[in-house]
Amino acid sequence: MMLPILDYAALDPQRRREALARPAAENQEQLVELVRATIARVRTEGDAAVLDYAARFDGGAPVNLRVPAEEIAAAATTLDERSLQALRRAIDNVRRFHAAQLTAPLRIETSAGVYCERITRPIESVGLYVPGGSAPLPSALIMSAVPAALAGCRRRILCSPGTRNGRIDPVILATAQLCEIEEVFAVGGAQAIAAMAYGTATIPKVDKIFGPGSAWVTAAKQLVAQDPQGAALDLPAGPSEVLVIADESADAAFVATDLLAQAEHDPLSQAILLVTSRAVAERVRSQALEFVKTLSRASILEQSLRRSRILLVPDLATAVSVSNEYAPEHLILHVQQPRASLAHITAAGSIFMGPWSPEPMGDYCSGTNHVLPTYGFARAYSGLSVADFQRRITVQELTPQGLADLGPTASILAGLEGLDAHALAVDVRLQSLSAQATSNDETFGADEATELVRRLARPEILAMRAYEHAHWDPHFERLHANESPWSPSFERAPSDSSSGLPLNRYPEPQPVQLLQSLAALYGVNPDSVLVGRGSDEGIDLLTRAFCTSGTDAVVICPPTFGMYAVAAAAQGLRVIEAPLRADFALDVPRILQAIEHGAKIVWLCSPNNPTGNKMPEPSIERVLAAARGRSLVVIDEAYAEFSSDASWGTRLASYPHMVVLRTLSKAHGLAGSRIGTVIAAAPIISLLRKLIPPYAISASSVAEALHALQPGVLEVTRARVAALLSERARLAEALSHSPAVRKVFASDANFVLIEANDAANLAHRLRDAGLLVRDFSGKGGLSQALRITVGTPEQNTRVIEVAARSELANGSEVATRSASS
Ligand code: PMP
Repeated sequence: MMLPILDYAALDPQRRREALARPAAENQEQLVELVRATIARVRTEGDAAVLDYAARFDGGAPVNLRVPAEEIAAAATTLDERSLQALRRAIDNVRRFHAAQLTAPLRIETSAGVYCERITRPIESVGLYVPGGSAPLPSALIMSAVPAALAGCRRRILCSPGTRNGRIDPVILATAQLCEIEEVFAVGGAQAIAAMAYGTATIPKVDKIFGPGSAWVTAAKQLVAQDPQGAALDLPAGPSEVLVIADESADAAFVATDLLAQAEHDPLSQAILLVTSRAVAERVRSQALEFVKTLSRASILEQSLRRSRILLVPDLATAVSVSNEYAPEHLILHVQQPRASLAHITAAGSIFMGPWSPEPMGDYCSGTNHVLPTYGFARAYSGLSVADFQRRITVQELTPQGLADLGPTASILAGLEGLDAHALAVDVRLQSLSAQATSNDETFGADEATELVRRLARPEILAMRAYEHAHWDPHFERLHANESPWSPSFERAPSDSSSGLPLNRYPEPQPVQLLQSLAALYGVNPDSVLVGRGSDEGIDLLTRAFCTSGTDAVVICPPTFGMYAVAAAAQGLRVIEAPLRADFALDVPRILQAIEHGAKIVWLCSPNNPTGNKMPEPSIERVLAAARGRSLVVIDEAYAEFSSDASWGTRLASYPHMVVLRTLSKAHGLAGSRIGTVIAAAPIISLLRKLIPPYAISASSVAEALHALQPGVLEVTRARVAALLSERARLAEALSHSPAVRKVFASDANFVLIEANDAANLAHRLRDAGLLVRDFSGKGGLSQALRITVGTPEQNTRVIEVAARSELANGSEVATRSASS
């Protein structure tokens, strides 16, 4: 019976399997043996065998085995303009869709210093096969020739049987020309496949063969693909099939024609309809049987429709699950909401959505490829795409640091597998690296910093060109910077002259003399120094130079200086918090975890604001060790002068990924001049110099800073710091006896942090006495916390006096205040 209607729900599992069974593959043993013999003969006799087989099986001995260029060129003239236009339009769409599949090379860093890439290279030479038969199949050629050209396959040859007395149909030749195929051979069948796989005097050998064909062609493709000397094949072949899912909204005529369009291919073709409505099922069946009477391929249809079924299913979910199990080559969704069903489709060659997307559109000209996995292969295979014409090659490159970091993992795994030489290949390099590192620590570090910048910095900052500022040379007359020719019309400011140029001139971008003085002060090289408007600018520059908005993260250890989080927020970064522990120590494991998760910058502040404590060397060292090659570790030493610890700045050579921030705002008393210093390996400093605005530091500030760094002034500064430290001790001691204060935290900075009984209250009382302090209660886990900057002895005494007053008196003060306000 043609196109029987079966109730899927009523079938037992065996009957269900039968209903969805594909036509059994015929016993091909004999055919395979014949094909094997054909291949063997073509391999030994070459062209002579090809010509002989062609004469016997192809529809005439080839007039020319290699079709002359003139014959290819002339073919188009035999076609009418409508046909040519249709071919061009189809080629154009297929080209568009396949061009979109070309992929950019891929490169990622799987772990620090370990780069994995994927590049593609075209398969050198490909053989495209187009079968003969009663009508030419130009679409078969388009589907392989277009992606082959896009992929960049250098040699693309076509074999097709000479069906017209030894000549290829002009439609195929015209299509070949439109698809830029220049080498065409008039031969078909297994002999064509053999010739392309092994080459003959006339037909070049290719690496991979594409295209449909008879059982002979399919067998030949399989045989040559098994031979490493032969040629790979495109897809496993089988009879074509369609599965249609329809609901009650489906148009019966549309569905019926979709089934017939498939069934007319071949007596073995299969068309299956899964439908949720019996009425639609019956309408489709009667429409289909009506149409059959009018169609030219009625005899094929009569056979294939016996293999075809209409299955009534209870709902669309069942239909989708049956379809996934069947894995059809073509799937047509004649349902009200095809997108909703699409979401659940897991296996199909190509899907046609809704009533207006009939399968022939995909067969010919929508743009998708019509070479698709049949016979259930869609469970694991995909249709033809540009990738099938390419080789995907992986590349890996490890930096010395990358190998140092990941090498031991490979070595351990090689040990597990008992492959000593594998382990050795890694170990000899690791040994060589550690020898290099100890013998030449400085250069190793410089290279490492360069590498680190290359890897961690924002690519756009690396790529950008720095602003070209006006050349700075005090010996020339400056007509190159659009400055005023006159000095300011007011009296020269006292600081004006010492900066080298009058105020009407743009200052030096990074004033050399100041860099040298700061470098000397901090014990580093001038090329490791960047001067900015306070260390605040350093925080901002580092954040912007290294962190990409929306993707990158930084680690902050609250309670700490607020600018790290502000800079991160301004740049749209994720902040990973690793709060200080109750004793204000770093939570090293949490910081290491954040580094593991790829945080770009770890912000450490030592001595920390507002807690006042310095971070012990071993914990900073652990962070530095874990971050090496992965993250920048910034140690903000704004308060270093008030602490007994040595600055980390002098250890730059050991830690190329460390950045130290210093400032003249605190100990040097120049907060108003806004002079901060970033100390880091030269490659990091160069990067920041690209990003800092061209004339960031004002001439006046430069002059003030230079002044402050003169030896005599530095001596005064040191004496003041010493005085401040003894004031700090006095203040802390006195506050610790205050009834308003629960605790005074030890400080290495120019302030003390206290825990008050009532911080807001004490802050109010100090304010009433004209003294401002910062209330940190509720910030970063602090409670009742006040930060009090160490002032002059007289100011400190006033603080002590206010705090010494009993809180009881204060309680009534608060009451009075709230009553009167
Ligand atoms: N870092 C820390 C820890 C700070 O406390 C401050 C200012 N309070 C700064 C940096 C910024 O200082 P400047 O910009 O004045 O150098």
